[in-house]
Amino acid sequence: MTTPRFWREIEQRYRGIGVQCEICDRVYFPPREICPHCRRESFGKMNERELSGKGKVLTYTEVHDPHPDFKLLTPYIMAIIEMEEDVRVTGQLVGVDYKDVETGMEVKATMRRLGEESPEGIIYYGYKFAPVKDKHE
Ligand SMILES: [Zn+2]
Repeated sequence: MTTPRFWREIEQRYRGIGVQCEICDRVYFPPREICPHCRRESFGKMNERELSGKGKVLTYTEVHDPHPDFKLLTPYIMAIIEMEEDVRVTGQLVGVDYKDVETGMEVKATMRRLGEESPEGIIYYGYKFAPVKDKHE
């Protein structure tokens, strides 16, 4: 997978608000207007639901080429996180060396400034994920 796709997803998802289907309780992020699962039953209401920010690393990659709109130090780690709510979120992984990242590692999202101002003067915010420290440490 390519870096630009990662970043586009972040821009879509930076709010961290998903929706939950009133009928089947499935959570969708980013929000959808119709539950794909309950489509045939229809009339299901989709309620806003803020994600807990807790999840596990599903897959990750080290990025060496900076996105043109973001002045991040490279290399950095991008990961797809499977959230508690059973949805997947893409974000930068911080506070851990690439060699120490493991699939299934527990992480927590924090809203942080992603990059410096773009040429248009926009500041991008998004999720970064950091490992959840072991309680015994
Ligand atoms: Zn549903």
